[in-house]
Amino acid sequence: METYQISPIGFIQSPYKQKFAIPRQPRLVPDATARLVFSPEFNREEFVRGIKDFTHLWILFRFHETAEKGYSALVRPPRLGGNIKKGVFATRATFRPNGIGMSAVKLESVEYHQGQLALVLSGIDLLDGTPVIDIKPYLPYSDSLQDASAGFADTRPQTDMTVSFSQVALISLSQIPDGERFKRFIEQVLMQDPRPAYKAGRDPVQHYGMSLHEFNIKWTVEGTHNTVTEITREK
Ligand code: SAH
Repeated sequence: METYQISPIGFIQSPYKQKFAIPRQPRLVPDATARLVFSPEFNREEFVRGIKDFTHLWILFRFHETAEKGYSALVRPPRLGGNIKKGVFATRATFRPNGIGMSAVKLESVEYHQGQLALVLSGIDLLDGTPVIDIKPYLPYSDSLQDASAGFADTRPQTDMTVSFSQVALISLSQIPDGERFKRFIEQVLMQDPRPAYKAGRDPVQHYGMSLHEFNIKWTVEGTHNTVTEITREK
């Protein structure tokens, strides 16, 4: 079989420190921002000259956390409750041959700080440390197809999840710089209902935890309501 070697052009610095709680597609959590930091070979303004004229970009990346774990021909999309199998090429599953992912994200700004070139992106669905293979401008006239239909994933996932914060969590937020924005970010993540499909609706009160930025967030789910109980800095 022919093989190719690919080296990352950069890496993602993301608030999502683990796969759990990352939205299933980009832009579902608009307040999720990340930096794409260029590798030394591409750490020059020339490589991104003109990029600011585009509001959105395609990021092609390697599913580095799962890429070594192989793939199966059939996968169970979470969208279908985890019970129905579809061909891997009929899904956006992370476990796939070659382990390549693609996300259309918003370009917020281009940074050049202390000799390091970076793109600030928002609406991302990428894990911290994700290796980036390529970047291309998003072209609405060609990439946005009005007559397309998308089978089991035809519409944006809807949940009726609501979110509130305990007094303790609100006090923690008030002590974090940009706490209001962080609160919105947490709300958006929880409104996506990050629980695995098979867990939803078991115990009357379920307890969960996730890492966002350098914080550990604990919350409970009762029916369709999330209560954030604790926000603590990770040690
Ligand atoms: N928009 C991409 C990703 C869809 S799958 C595409 O369509 O190709 C989305 C899931 O990818 C997220 O829920 C997250 O858990 C997972 N993910 C994100 N970055 C990853 C990485 N570097 N390695 C493994 N999984 C990752």
